[in-house]
Amino acid sequence: MNKVLVSALRYSQGPGATSGLATEMVGVGLRGPVCIIASRSAQRELESTWTTVFAAAGMTFVIHPFSGECSRNEIARGRAAAAACGAQVIVGAGGGKALDTGRAVAAELGIPAVCCPTIASTDAPCSAISAVYSDEGLFETYLFHPHNPNLVLVDSTVIARAPVRLLVAGMGDALSTWFEARACMRSGARNSRNGVSTGAGMAIAELCWRILQADGVSALDAMKTPTATPSPALERIIEANTLLSGIGFESAGLAAAHAIHNGLTVAPEVHAFHHGEKVAFGTLAQLMLEDAPQEEITAVLNFCTSVGLPVTLAQIGLHDPSDALLLRIAERATIASDTIHNEPFQVTANAVLQAIKRADTAGRAVIQ
Ligand SMILES: [Zn+2]
Repeated sequence: MNKVLVSALRYSQGPGATSGLATEMVGVGLRGPVCIIASRSAQRELESTWTTVFAAAGMTFVIHPFSGECSRNEIARGRAAAAACGAQVIVGAGGGKALDTGRAVAAELGIPAVCCPTIASTDAPCSAISAVYSDEGLFETYLFHPHNPNLVLVDSTVIARAPVRLLVAGMGDALSTWFEARACMRSGARNSRNGVSTGAGMAIAELCWRILQADGVSALDAMKTPTATPSPALERIIEANTLLSGIGFESAGLAAAHAIHNGLTVAPEVHAFHHGEKVAFGTLAQLMLEDAPQEEITAVLNFCTSVGLPVTLAQIGLHDPSDALLLRIAERATIASDTIHNEPFQVTANAVLQAIKRADTAGRAVIQ
């Protein structure tokens, strides 16, 4: 079996990076017309810059306002808008769902995709995956595209202005990356491209965890007291959340933490919480499932409490859940198709149920 590294073709991050969007696009061989699928806030914040930079590069562009949900209907609408202007490239700008829609439209049209995230709340921007929901917001399926984005352009000035909680959620998503990568390495599980991880993929996943521990708190402090340019710690966390975690999960694989996240979503009470917040608790439960060393569990607990990530069920909306509900969560987490079976041992619903309870007990002990 081959070792496969999965990544975007080009990643570019820095303060005011949007002013270099057209130049970066030309640098990877992209030409207009450009169709920008933009969330309302991305358009409000960036439209005047887009007008300037695309005019200077001699590229025409249209903006297709994103409706708010990455649904089949929204992808069809984006595709029609892109076809109407003869787009040669799709730029997604906004949060995860706008970018997911942009990548899906580009894949359907067989043209390149550019992602311009305006928040750092998940590791999806660099990926070749879109999560598709119904128009009402219920998860339907993942689409696996042939290509990762040709360019991911991260304007750290824009991300620094987003709500702090979204960056924290991104750290929760990034927290799981190393532990899931390690589980996949131990079991020999295949990654998103049917290969096994390279050494590079593992090193990137491990670096992600080290940066979270070293810079998480100071990045949050920097966000709470804005400066003209984001601090070096905030830049490193944005990179960890977006690039390192993105390469890590696609190149090394997912395991129990994300499966437990998926299990948690059977409880409507958790829907108000961000993906990364639930993944953080899933990571803690994964370590319990693996009987990880106490010092590692302590390190994860300390990190989560230091940045405000949940470590108990109550902190993700599950106050005194019944055993029946926890069993339903564990059963969903262990369905045959989920990534929990990338763990290097047999996983049962009952073992997951016990791991969730142990995680909750350990979390309650540290927040008292
Ligand atoms: Zn995730």
